[in-house]
Amino acid sequence: MTRTVHIIGAGLAGLSAALDLSARGERVVVHEATAFAGGRCRSYRDAALGMTIDNGNHLLLSGNHAALAYLRGVGAEQKLIGPAQAEFAFVDLPSRERWTLRFNDGRLPLWVFDRSRRVPGTRALDYFALAKLLWPGPGKSVGEVIGRDGLLYRRLVEPLLLAALNIDPPHGSARLASAVIRETLGAGGQACRPLIARDGLGATMIEPALAALESRGAVVRLEHQLRALRFGAERIEALDFGNEAIVLGAADAVILAVPPYAAAALVDGLSVPTEFRAIVNAHFAIDAPAALPPILGVLNGVVQWIFAFPGRVSITISAGDGYLDTPRDALAKTIWNDVAAVTGLPNPLPPWQIVRERRATFAATPAQDAKRPAAATRWRNLALAGDWTDTGLPATIESAIRSGNRAAALIARQSAKS
Ligand SMILES: Cc1cc2nc3c(=O)[nH]c(=O)nc-3n(C[C@H](O)[C@H](O)[C@H](O)COP(=O)(O)OP(=O)(O)OC[C@H]3O[C@@H](n4cnc5c(N)ncnc54)[C@H](O)[C@@H]3O)c2cc1C
Repeated sequence: MTRTVHIIGAGLAGLSAALDLSARGERVVVHEATAFAGGRCRSYRDAALGMTIDNGNHLLLSGNHAALAYLRGVGAEQKLIGPAQAEFAFVDLPSRERWTLRFNDGRLPLWVFDRSRRVPGTRALDYFALAKLLWPGPGKSVGEVIGRDGLLYRRLVEPLLLAALNIDPPHGSARLASAVIRETLGAGGQACRPLIARDGLGATMIEPALAALESRGAVVRLEHQLRALRFGAERIEALDFGNEAIVLGAADAVILAVPPYAAAALVDGLSVPTEFRAIVNAHFAIDAPAALPPILGVLNGVVQWIFAFPGRVSITISAGDGYLDTPRDALAKTIWNDVAAVTGLPNPLPPWQIVRERRATFAATPAQDAKRPAAATRWRNLALAGDWTDTGLPATIESAIRSGNRAAALIARQSAKS
């Protein structure tokens, strides 16, 4: 029997579900509310800069195996670039002290025994305290498991967890921090190579996926917002798009891959995370100095990470809620002061853009993490996907893609049973 799987939302969760199911030969229709695919991971033409930029600088790690498989599947793996070995350059803004962390490839963390590879001012012994984060116990925050004193915390743990969890680390879920540490530092240097989409997220993660879907006969309907679901006792019976209703056949299925607040509005009583954290990105149209590494961690500044792209320098501030109401030009100047101080670029402000994503990720606290639902629902033809569903990871590209794959596998299994 030919059936259709309707996927609601064309972010990475929806796209990965669509790719997975279309590769299994299923008929797929993706419905996206906005005029573009990609959701929180998208590129757009910015008039102020006169160039295409991403809504946010996205960093992947070579251990993000689902994200890499997604890219391989759409022929775009080579579009992610990064060093052959895991290394992270840092600068401490007030002192201008610079160092580069160099992890060794294998799982045994030999780099912590090498003064030239580890965080300056730390001892090998300091690193063993991190093992506590590997088995944190349920419901704990990072602050309840490890201390926040010492150079290792300030120079490695804090920037790593702030970037990965998008929350002030002591308030973050230790379960999620544990997953990050296990899949990165714990998996060895070959899982920690930093990777960026140099030509943009759209060209790397979204357009190749749309092309692959089209080649498999999948349909992507933009500006097609789902307004309501019609619930039967055991299954979803129809989709209401306002000016159009789609009645589902007995074997048809739905994957809801929208943000948590949108999912809660569509499914009564669904448990979802309800608190969020912002990410602030600023982009400057200027050539990066040759000596600037592709990614530079900045400590004790407003800016946390500086990215060097062709013709553009961009920065990220995670958990940037404190800057949401700062006037844009004042914020641009403050940020540029940091960038100029670190890079030696001249201080007059180049053309700039600031992108503030208020609900960039759910707040990765233990309480919010506990609200994340599983992919399966009590309706047998409805599965959930999204970086906010219970993937065991913080809200990242990897989480979104794994959630899409998991929802797709669930729907494929259900079809095999019926
Ligand atoms: C600024 C920023 C920086 C980030 N940096 C990183 C990073 O460095 N590394 C990393 O791994 N992750 C990062 N992330 C997180 C990453 O972008 C997200 O985890 C991922 O994109 C989420 O994908 P998703 O499909 O779950 O959700 P979304 O991208 O939110 O997709 C949901 C889609 O559903 C659509 N939709 C909503 N309601 C409806 C409806 N009723 N009908 C139809 N469609 C609907 C939306 O328009 C959207 O397209 C960052 C996020 C931001 C915002």
